[in-house]
Amino acid sequence: MGLTEIRQQIDRACAAAGRDPAEVTLIAVSKLQPDDRVTAALDAGQRVFGENYVQEAQRKWPALRDRWGQVELHLIGPLQTNKARSAVELFDAIHSLDRPSLAQRLARIVQDTGRAPRLFVQVNTGDEPQKAGIAPAQADGFIAECRALDLPVTGCMCIPPDAQDPRPHFRLLREIATRNGLPALSMGMSADFETAIAEGATHIRIGSAIFGARPKAGT
Ligand SMILES: *Cc1c(COP(=O)(O)O)cnc(C)c1O
Repeated sequence: MGLTEIRQQIDRACAAAGRDPAEVTLIAVSKLQPDDRVTAALDAGQRVFGENYVQEAQRKWPALRDRWGQVELHLIGPLQTNKARSAVELFDAIHSLDRPSLAQRLARIVQDTGRAPRLFVQVNTGDEPQKAGIAPAQADGFIAECRALDLPVTGCMCIPPDAQDPRPHFRLLREIATRNGLPALSMGMSADFETAIAEGATHIRIGSAIFGARPKAGT
């Protein structure tokens, strides 16, 4: 269990950046992890988890929440419009708001259900064609559109391109969030969370460094 070590690394990164560790939420990314690793993290006191797939989370978390009580769940993977209702019912935060059709659907569901998960606008900071997220050039307009729909947008999220220095991507995300008045920054994973903390991350999403390598999806 790498949880204790990760917490220490977070504290050190915060100290180096002159930040209060209380400003940084550790999201333990439990997608595809065996149940015993997840329950070990719960036993160790971790109460904030991230999942990528709505269906996997629906299978897993109701029973775990029954047993461990209040657990904050974050959806960090892409969200299909037809799964938006299930996502709103299950998750406390959604990090993958990335297109107008999804914003419109979420707005309707929030109105219908009265449930309002915190929302992060995912920005494709590397402008990568295969990657989810709104293009940086369209981010301001999209955030305004989400606000006009009364959506509870609290921050921005990014996944920097593989094999590049993540720092400029974290900076770009921070600039976009700052100029739009959004306080939360979901950025930083196992390999780069210390850099993300230095650049202002408020939510870091760490999977393998806590739980170990995960089995590949579909195997
Ligand atoms: C899987 C995943 C993570 C965690 O990745 P690790 O490298 O295992 O820390 C973080 N964010 C997103 C969006 C992911 O899909």
